Amino acid sequence: MDEVAANLASIHAKIRAACAKAGRAESEVTLIAVTKTFSADRVREAFEAGQRDVGENRLQEAESKIPLLPASLRWHYIGQLQRNKVRKVLPLFAMIHSIDSLRLAQYTNEVARELGLFPQIFLQVNHAEEESKAGFTVEELRSSWEVLMQLDRLEIVGLMSVPPPVEDAEKSRPWFAALRELRDQLSQETQTPLPFLSMGMSGDYTVAIEEGATHIRVGSAVFGKR
Ligand SMILES: *Cc1c(COP(=O)(O)O)cnc(C)c1O
Repeated sequence: MDEVAANLASIHAKIRAACAKAGRAESEVTLIAVTKTFSADRVREAFEAGQRDVGENRLQEAESKIPLLPASLRWHYIGQLQRNKVRKVLPLFAMIHSIDSLRLAQYTNEVARELGLFPQIFLQVNHAEEESKAGFTVEELRSSWEVLMQLDRLEIVGLMSVPPPVEDAEKSRPWFAALRELRDQLSQETQTPLPFLSMGMSGDYTVAIEEGATHIRVGSAVFGKR
């Protein structure tokens, strides 16, 4: 087994254990292998080991890799999305995890209509209100909700977050729990199905799964150090 295949097998074992601990079905969790900075050849190793969901955070990098790789890969856009990239991102990516403002959501909705698409969208939440990070604050998300729900070309499937980096994964747990609670509240208060939570990276994905993650974004644990 090559290194990527061995890493994927070990991650799947940890996903299985975290699901068992939380009383969840393993099928509820999608592992997204984050391929940023890794070559198309490394991504192909993951594909050959059965990996289908892959994540990139830059359009340009994705554009150079996608044509070299099997069409059955599902690409997830996880990085900050600039307005001038939306038109190119929409047709290439199955899901966008990083819609971080009402204006961007409205613009993406317009472009989706022009292109005849109905993209699946996560709204990114900046729970810790970190200056350096994109995302809706909880207040912004609540005050934007009605307008967001009227964007008829966007299928808003859930919430995403990138909590502050920590040494100890347990320190991420309160952020993951808070995102789940926010999702539960919004979903209940507004009678909106919001099935998905995109949270958890290489250092803390098992904790994220225990707190309800449905999409974990894992890069270095799959491909090695960047
Ligand atoms: C790079 C990246 C990841 C993966 O990070 P690792 O620590 O390598 O697992 C996850 N989410 C986002 C938004 C990223 O940019």
